[in-house]
Amino acid sequence: MLGTVLLKRPSELRSFRRRLASWYQANRRALPWRKTRDPYRIWVSEIMLQQTRVAAVLEYYRLFLQRFPTVHHLVAASEAEVLAVWSGLGYYRRARMLHKAARVVVAEHDGRLPRTSSLLRKLPGIGRYTGNAIASIAFGEPVAAVDGNVERVLSRMGQSMLAGDALWNAAQGLLDPTAPGDFNQAMMELGATVCTPKKPSCRACPVMKYCASKSGIALSLTPPEKRVQRSASLLLRRRAGKILLSRRANYGTLMPGMWELPQLATAGAASPILKVRHSITITNWRVDVFPSGEAMPNQHLRWIAASQAETLPLTGLTRKILRKLNIIA
Ligand code: SF4
Repeated sequence: MLGTVLLKRPSELRSFRRRLASWYQANRRALPWRKTRDPYRIWVSEIMLQQTRVAAVLEYYRLFLQRFPTVHHLVAASEAEVLAVWSGLGYYRRARMLHKAARVVVAEHDGRLPRTSSLLRKLPGIGRYTGNAIASIAFGEPVAAVDGNVERVLSRMGQSMLAGDALWNAAQGLLDPTAPGDFNQAMMELGATVCTPKKPSCRACPVMKYCASKSGIALSLTPPEKRVQRSASLLLRRRAGKILLSRRANYGTLMPGMWELPQLATAGAASPILKVRHSITITNWRVDVFPSGEAMPNQHLRWIAASQAETLPLTGLTRKILRKLNIIA
């Protein structure tokens, strides 16, 4: 294990943990999910943070918990209501799985989240990372959580790309079993704020002493992402306080059941009333919105009152456009 290879002596391991812990106490960002021990709130934060930046999550986290303050509130809501609050955060499967898992928690666990990672991982949408993160942070189970940040820190420390069991074993070998939740969060925080992908700030790193890349010649671990440029034309038709929306098929793989502005077949003579840019995973979209024209065939179209649109599970792009045009709040 890397933990025993790099830090052979127990005194080194203790020192590593101590340095990391005091750095974390002094430097950690004051994030709302760090102010709670409520497993439900920690669970929601971990699901929202999957593949999503902290800054993007903050407002959604607040609104989600305002609307669904407990697992029972979440279970009482329909999937469409959950998606409406999630709308704009992306990766909607997460919201669906969270809602499904909440039902299992209420039906089979008396509304209480299981306390170990192995039981948590039986719930929909919870894998090894999320299970370990929740179990360590909310219940103090001594299990390491490895996300992309931790993977980068460990690989740089050992100066070799780690993957699979070697990576998880390395993290487990370093873990402080007396404070696993703080340790895991400290490692993630280190990766997110100091040992960053492009320019690690090795001089500010609390564990530089134990890092093989400490000279700052850190491994470049992630090849630059190739982004795809695409464009689209959408139709925004309005009639007597209503707007024309299209609903994605329930069986689709991408954002099933969500509502959006119809795609345009021909724009006619009109010029766009809005031009927006929107990024979804690795695609940068340039989108023109037209007030008239022909919608593409085979779309499930409906006239929806603007006031009702706000409560529907809209795609992030559609919500963005309707907000920019002051059609919804
Ligand atoms: Fe990352 Fe530099 Fe710290 Fe090593 S010394 S863990 S490369 S920030």
